[in-house]
Amino acid sequence: MFADNDPRLSQLLEGIVRLASGDLTSRIEVSDARDELDAIIMGTNLLAEDLQIIYEELEQRVQVRTQLLHEAHLEMQKMAMQDPLTGLANRSALIEALRSAIDDDEADEGPVILLLDLDAFKSINDSLGHTAGDNVLITVGQRIRGAVRATDVVARLGGDEFAIVMPAVSADQAAIVGHRILAALNEPIELPGRSVRCGASIGLSVGGAGQTPEDMLMEADVAMYASKAEGQNRLHRFEPGLLLVRRLRSQLVEDLRAAIKSDGLTLHYQPVVELSSSRIEGVEALVRWNHPTRGLIMPDEFIPLAEDAGLISELGLWVLRTAVRQLRQWIDASLVDGHFSVRINISATDLQSLQFIEDVRNVLKETLVRPEQVVLELTEVAIVKGNELDRYSLGGLRGLGVGIEIDDFGTGYSSISYLRRLPVDRVKVDRSLISGLGTDPTQPALVAAVLQLVRACGLEAVWEGVETAEQAEILRALGCLSAQGYYFSRPVPPEEVPGLLAAQPESAKQ
Ligand code: C2E
Ligand code: CA
Ligand code: CA
Repeated sequence: MFADNDPRLSQLLEGIVRLASGDLTSRIEVSDARDELDAIIMGTNLLAEDLQIIYEELEQRVQVRTQLLHEAHLEMQKMAMQDPLTGLANRSALIEALRSAIDDDEADEGPVILLLDLDAFKSINDSLGHTAGDNVLITVGQRIRGAVRATDVVARLGGDEFAIVMPAVSADQAAIVGHRILAALNEPIELPGRSVRCGASIGLSVGGAGQTPEDMLMEADVAMYASKAEGQNRLHRFEPGLLLVRRLRSQLVEDLRAAIKSDGLTLHYQPVVELSSSRIEGVEALVRWNHPTRGLIMPDEFIPLAEDAGLISELGLWVLRTAVRQLRQWIDASLVDGHFSVRINISATDLQSLQFIEDVRNVLKETLVRPEQVVLELTEVAIVKGNELDRYSLGGLRGLGVGIEIDDFGTGYSSISYLRRLPVDRVKVDRSLISGLGTDPTQPALVAAVLQLVRACGLEAVWEGVETAEQAEILRALGCLSAQGYYFSRPVPPEEVPGLLAAQPESAKQ
């Protein structure tokens, strides 16, 4: 046993106080006595040792965690400034870069921003799928990066829109870089199993004193739209006049929206004629816009506008309803029989919407028109580029019993095997294929070959764009069944259709 006044007792107490105060390195001295008290001291030292190890480990872990947290924080900062798909800067990073370039007093030129929008991305994405679409975006990002300086900031702003900020260059220099980018994007992009080409349109804006990054982006956007309007692979600089063009355009969109709602549109009808008898077998409905101040506007001018402004479905529904109701009226007036058909042009957007099938079903139900009397015309391009859903909608439409015809046949690139698989019954051969008929002696052979090809696929052909009696006669002699064109009649307003029907040769009347 140890004595009450054993000095080791106070040493033990002091030692424990030191440990308790956080000095885990302190140890209490063990005596030579090796008695019970020494055993307690040794035990305390062991505990201190353990505590120290645990504490050090803990400290190390905290350090690692802190480091990880720091890295995560950096990563998050990067993510907030970076487009995850392409690794390029994102919109916020671009705005920041623009802001600091505008504020840079030392630069005596610029900054310049290029805004770039891909021309054919949507159709690539729709027809080849999102993985292919992603690959295209990544490749485009790399090509832009490769065409600019390391100090330029390249960003993806979302979708298929890219932007490049060049801190201190002249507009001319920037335009040269822009054209270099367009050239780089014009090279085909290799995807598994196929290659695609995806052009772009660029808008250029030069920063001026007092401008905000948002101003510059808006100007570049306006300029980009001007490039798009001119066709693919263009570059346009911003000029104030373009703002007016933009305003007129959005005014036109508003006018069109109103026209669709309030019967500002009208349909003209062009006869489709049976070549052997000159009988009018049906009509094609062609939409026109009766603009309050600009007069009659043709569809080539406003259909693309409607597509762009997201109005095409509304317009398509209006055309569908109006044309089928009109057919009902003609049937009720005994002007036409149950074989007479009305052809309606369908946009690729309609084809992609399942709602459209419902609309067709409803119109047929409402008017009690037989489905065979309604033929939907779809362009070859829309069908060929179509995805699975399109084929599903085509099947759905077909299931309703309406006729389906490929429009502008010969301008797209459908393969024969593809044609065979499609649920269509007729093609309308584009007028460019017969334009030389009557002047070019080799043309009849082409027509005969196309006719053979179409029939080999189990389809029938309507020939459009017939402008002369001679063309009609050659087609008839070659065994073509139906045709359409100015020679027979221009598209006419509905009130003139009864007159056309009455003027048919007696033998052709129903
Ligand atoms: P499309 O479907 O190929 O229509 C034929 C176009 O050729 C019509 O022009 C017609 O007037 C014109 N045409 C007819 N016969 C002749 C001819 O003998 N010679 C020449 N040179 N041209 C002839 P339009 O009415 O200006 O329509 C242009 C295009 O607008 C149509 O081409 C069609 O793609 C589109 N479109 C027209 N109406 C609608 C519609 O209701 N909905 C949709 N989505 N598109 C429509
Ligand atoms: Ca057509
Ligand atoms: Ca056509």
